[in-house]
Amino acid sequence: MKGRKLLMIPGPVEFEPDVLQAMAQPTTSHVAADFVEVFGRVLERVRQVFLCPSGQPFVVAGSGTLAMDMAACNLVEPGDRALVVSTGYFSDRLAAILERYGAQVTVVRAPVGSAPGLDEVEAVLRQGRFKLVTVTQVDTSTGVLADVRGIAALAQRYGALSVVDGVCATAAEECRQEEWGIDICFTASQKAIGTPPGLALLVASPRALEAWRARQAPVANYYADFANWLPIMQAYEARQAAYFATPAVNLIAALDVSLGHILAEGLDARFRRHARIGAACKAGIQALGLAQVAQPAVAAHTMTAPYFPAGIGAEVLKAILDAGVILAGGLHPEIKDRYFRIGHMGSVSDGDILATLGAVERGLAAAGYRFEAGAGVAAAQRELLKGW
Ligand code: PMP
Repeated sequence: MKGRKLLMIPGPVEFEPDVLQAMAQPTTSHVAADFVEVFGRVLERVRQVFLCPSGQPFVVAGSGTLAMDMAACNLVEPGDRALVVSTGYFSDRLAAILERYGAQVTVVRAPVGSAPGLDEVEAVLRQGRFKLVTVTQVDTSTGVLADVRGIAALAQRYGALSVVDGVCATAAEECRQEEWGIDICFTASQKAIGTPPGLALLVASPRALEAWRARQAPVANYYADFANWLPIMQAYEARQAAYFATPAVNLIAALDVSLGHILAEGLDARFRRHARIGAACKAGIQALGLAQVAQPAVAAHTMTAPYFPAGIGAEVLKAILDAGVILAGGLHPEIKDRYFRIGHMGSVSDGDILATLGAVERGLAAAGYRFEAGAGVAAAQRELLKGW
């Protein structure tokens, strides 16, 4: 189709046609038997996708920021100490949210593009008793992939709860919530979950719910309070209708289809597909001579963040758009105007990556950048052909 563009930003992403079709079904009552069945199945599937068989899933209308709010407001009581492992803009947002609920926040950070070492995190944990430790699995402002497994293990060792922001990661980057001892993991529908924006997905471990139940202070957020949502989630999963606030009926129908795709592919296969496609994109960008924000040892598989070449700025994104691909500009305040972002998660295919690099090449050529035509596409193709 002539006017169609390929959406390759770090969320929202391209959605499967049957997911979009599910959204377009006539809206039913949120207490109708057919919807109760769909919502019940969604909750079971969320638990499977998060690899957390004993976890309690919550699916609530709102964006990823609501999921952040939900994690923070239910765990934090005024004066609690929280350690934020920061790898960029979204980690810092979580710190701000924790502070809003009265936490005393300590932030461990690294220079832009790298992640604090486990030894640095441990050194802070040794200094005092923290109620929780948060980490952003992929910080979308830098494309840095954090060692959530290592950080969750440290949190456990020091008696703290662990919270993982999986918004740019869950269902694409390896994360095994239960096995790795993560207490709260959350994401949003529009990323690797593959459903249009509008749903916050969160899974709480039994330990997280225990901590919430043991609170002295009331939860300082009405909409996000587990007390309001827990009975609703339990009822739908038991295939009974319940009401606290109207669920996003059409989005939940779409989520059911998308979660079905994720489980049919299998999580291990999905982690491998993202690793392979991520490597292809990065090889292509490198072959074009563009540096990347994330250090190779901590680079995400769900997105790539290339620096613009010298003398070229964000105007190249318009040329790339004209070549058929929608990419995102920079976000991290320290380097905002110096880089751009490519998302490759969800149902992203080999062809999408080749098309994206082709459009990046055409955009760069239009901006006057000199390179060997096809070098980026060829490098990506070589990567994709490995083990083909
Ligand atoms: N955390 C991360 C890592 C994100 O990438 C985003 C969104 N890009 C958010 C949180 C916030 O999600 P939303 O924009 O859906 O509120």
